[in-house]
Amino acid sequence: MNNHRHIPVAEPKIGERELELVSDCVRSGWVSSKGKYVNQFEQNFAEFCGVKYGVATFNGTIALHLVLAALNIGAGDEVIVPSLTFVATANAVAYTGATPIFVDSEPETWNIDPAAIEAAITPRTKAIIPVHLYGHPADMDAINAIARRHNLWVIEDAAEAHGAKYRGKPAGSLGDAAIFSFMGNKIITTGEGGVVVTDDQSLAERCFFLQNHARQPDSPYWHTEIGFNYRMTNLQAALGVAQLEQIDEFIAIRRRNAAHYMARLGDVPGLVIPPQAEWAETVYWMFAPLITPEFGLDRDTVMAKLRERGIESRPFFGCVHQMPMYDSGQSLPVAEKLSVQGINLPSGTTLSAADIDFVCDVLIEMRR
Ligand SMILES: *Cc1c(COP(=O)(O)O)cnc(C)c1O
Repeated sequence: MNNHRHIPVAEPKIGERELELVSDCVRSGWVSSKGKYVNQFEQNFAEFCGVKYGVATFNGTIALHLVLAALNIGAGDEVIVPSLTFVATANAVAYTGATPIFVDSEPETWNIDPAAIEAAITPRTKAIIPVHLYGHPADMDAINAIARRHNLWVIEDAAEAHGAKYRGKPAGSLGDAAIFSFMGNKIITTGEGGVVVTDDQSLAERCFFLQNHARQPDSPYWHTEIGFNYRMTNLQAALGVAQLEQIDEFIAIRRRNAAHYMARLGDVPGLVIPPQAEWAETVYWMFAPLITPEFGLDRDTVMAKLRERGIESRPFFGCVHQMPMYDSGQSLPVAEKLSVQGINLPSGTTLSAADIDFVCDVLIEMRR
């Protein structure tokens, strides 16, 4: 029992190349949001997603706020979101003055249930924000078909799904626009950071305009709208350019780690391995199984027992529809069950095969 092992739930891999580009940025003096790395990062990341435009932002939450604002979504509007997501998805809607409308998850993929979206649509609905939870894409054909029928925008919250694919097409290219996050525990990091990606030139231009205090190119201190300072710094982007060079390797590591977990845990009773729909290529941002009653211990007990052995884990996100600021007494049974049963096991880029074996040994052992 007396071991000093510490296995973090997610740790970024940052090396010499990051140091080189960030140092270059510091030496150049271009540390705010002007400088070559911002443009380079925007272009490279858009290309990675198979779309034309990227607008880099200071974090993923404001990327979502920015694109909603650019689509003129605001007070009196409704935006459909899953309840089982990081709270930022709903908060970004609330920042605009619009109301987030919560929809249940589907049992097959744990993502927003397309069948439940249609019932949540009203004359006020303006957009749907599917979230690719833990790296597994949402069922985008079904969602886009509903959106087309009702004339709604579709904005992917792909904060957890860099490189995930839906029927062969990359996350970020599956709706009208998408956002990603580059926070320290995401698949690649810029420290904090985010991006809006889209194929829509006028939407991208409006995002650039609004993120820069609605600054007119020809009269820099005359503003005709209330904009924001949501820009990414060149420092962040330098880190991002270096990270993006390695993204295929980082994703391969996550898939390999997930395969290792599944080989070890696939037939443990009461431990449900995360889904991968036949049309999906998930990137396992988090290796996220469920602990069901058959396991014999509940999720929180499992987390406590892992912690005793130096293994960090996380519970699934809380259901946002039950949080005090959004609670209207709504019941979303699938999301609620997933939220209390789900666990994120160590999933970072620096995780070793021995670490995974240790986590699996501890999990298997604790059932006895
Ligand atoms: C991380 C995350 C965000 C927000 O990203 P930040 O960069 O931390 O602001 C938004 N949505 C989801 C689903 C996330 O996981």
